[in-house]
Amino acid sequence: MQKCKRCKVTKERSLFNKDSRQLSGLRGECSSCEKDRSRNNRRTVKGLVFQMYRNQKRRSVEKGFSEPEYSKEELLSFCIGDLGFVTLYDLWVESGFDRMKTPSIDRLDDYSGYSFRNIRVVDWSSNKESGSEDTRNGLNNKRSKTVHQKRLDGSLIKTFYSIQQIHASSISRVCNSEGGNSVAGGCLWSF
Ligand SMILES: [Zn+2]
Repeated sequence: MQKCKRCKVTKERSLFNKDSRQLSGLRGECSSCEKDRSRNNRRTVKGLVFQMYRNQKRRSVEKGFSEPEYSKEELLSFCIGDLGFVTLYDLWVESGFDRMKTPSIDRLDDYSGYSFRNIRVVDWSSNKESGSEDTRNGLNNKRSKTVHQKRLDGSLIKTFYSIQQIHASSISRVCNSEGGNSVAGGCLWSF
């Protein structure tokens, strides 16, 4: 038996992952706490983007492309500065992290790799069939569905019919409709 450092519950040894660096041979946190922590991490903007980056690297190798032309930090800056992404991120949070609403990156040209010229943000909820894995990883060009942009109180600001439309709309217009400030993806947009 071992007491978990996080939830403080004493549990069977089998409920902890092994860790040879520890005297006990086990991790200090139980495996369900570890799972919880990594899920929470994947739900932050940084955790989500870094996960997407790892997927992009893996898929690049599988598809025979060179690795992404950007670093994971550069991809994070790109996403944070992209209104389409932060809007989708907010919708994902609002949905209680509905898997079908996870923001993702798509490649414009299926036949070339990951570069800022060749990626765009896409919501893959319209692709529930077998293509969804590919779409999430940017391997095909299926279009996204309607996106409703809402205030924090849930009232509708605007409905977008494509991500391209979100990109076309200026951040300042969205912010003006919010009364000067807009919280998106954990950022405050002020004009
Ligand atoms: Zn625990």
